[in-house]
Amino acid sequence: MPRALITGITGQDGLYLGELLAAKGYEVFGLVRGQSNPKISTVERIIPSIELLEGDLRDLSSLIGALEIAQPDEVYNLGAISFVGLSWKQAELTGDITGMGVLRILEALRIHTQGDMSKVRFYQASSSEMFGKVRETPQRESTPFHPRSPYGVAKTFGHYMTVNYRESYDAFACSGILFNHESERRGHEFVTRKVTRAVARIALGLQASVALGNLDSRRDWGFAGDYVEAMWKMLQQDTPDDFVIATGETHSIGELLDVAFSRVGINDWSSKVTQDPRFFRPAEVDLLIGDASKAADELGWKPTVTFEQLVHRMVDSDLKIEKIAASRASED
Ligand code: GDP
Repeated sequence: MPRALITGITGQDGLYLGELLAAKGYEVFGLVRGQSNPKISTVERIIPSIELLEGDLRDLSSLIGALEIAQPDEVYNLGAISFVGLSWKQAELTGDITGMGVLRILEALRIHTQGDMSKVRFYQASSSEMFGKVRETPQRESTPFHPRSPYGVAKTFGHYMTVNYRESYDAFACSGILFNHESERRGHEFVTRKVTRAVARIALGLQASVALGNLDSRRDWGFAGDYVEAMWKMLQQDTPDDFVIATGETHSIGELLDVAFSRVGINDWSSKVTQDPRFFRPAEVDLLIGDASKAADELGWKPTVTFEQLVHRMVDSDLKIEKIAASRASED
């Protein structure tokens, strides 16, 4: 039975990856911060066989301890402060967890493997936010980075540290440069889920409108369930490498609003969306669109869910969730 350790198990990707690996017969260990973490019950419901270990990406010895218990064949570092908007308000914390956390887990692995880092395969969750103010379109593995937020800067540090450990210590370390990937498990602070939840609530008469920031930025949005498959595939190769994972399509926030509102029969959303300066960012990433042809050629990976299908499944799921919440509230 192969063994895997996942940091960030309570996040969207951690849950999908944990499910995937458990279904493949892995013994899956998840790192969680704090015994009373409220998300633990969700993890245990979705991945009943999970073994949770306490540890923190800010604490090297806790990472060494977790590796000693898990004895993993594969380590997936998905733990991070992952919301770009927050990263300006908590820049130092973002640098510490999203950036330095990568160095700490690599160091923990180096110590754990007594320097033979090729023994344990390592996946680093890198991000299209590293491209930031993009130097070429579409973005590929060779595109230079120009991050635009403390989050993007921290992810860039983590990416280069992963490459450096591969080159310095022969680590089997891969960096997956994943473009935005969403699902019904996405946090409410991200624009896709914020929109699909608001659309569901507006359709049910629970709220009148939604306040957003910049409606002009464009993203390459895929389905998170597809993207965790790519993570696993990277670690099954003969040699470690870096891959862009993306759909190759880009859509604006305006298009996201079109698809989400039309799912509930609203074709003109202009009176339902307001703009609030609070949601604008100090520096913006205007356009992201990835070229995942290397992943297609070498990993045989392709996305299976279209933008429309993705938005529809998120709206449908939020309609269900909000209906249940509303009927519970009316019973009280
Ligand atoms: P990101 O690509 O990792 O920053 O993912 P987000 O979902 O947080 O943001 C995607 C884009 O949506 C960014 O360009 C944001 O500026 C834009 N956006 C516009 N309004 C909002 C909003 O109310 N919330 C968030 N999170 N993003 C917004």
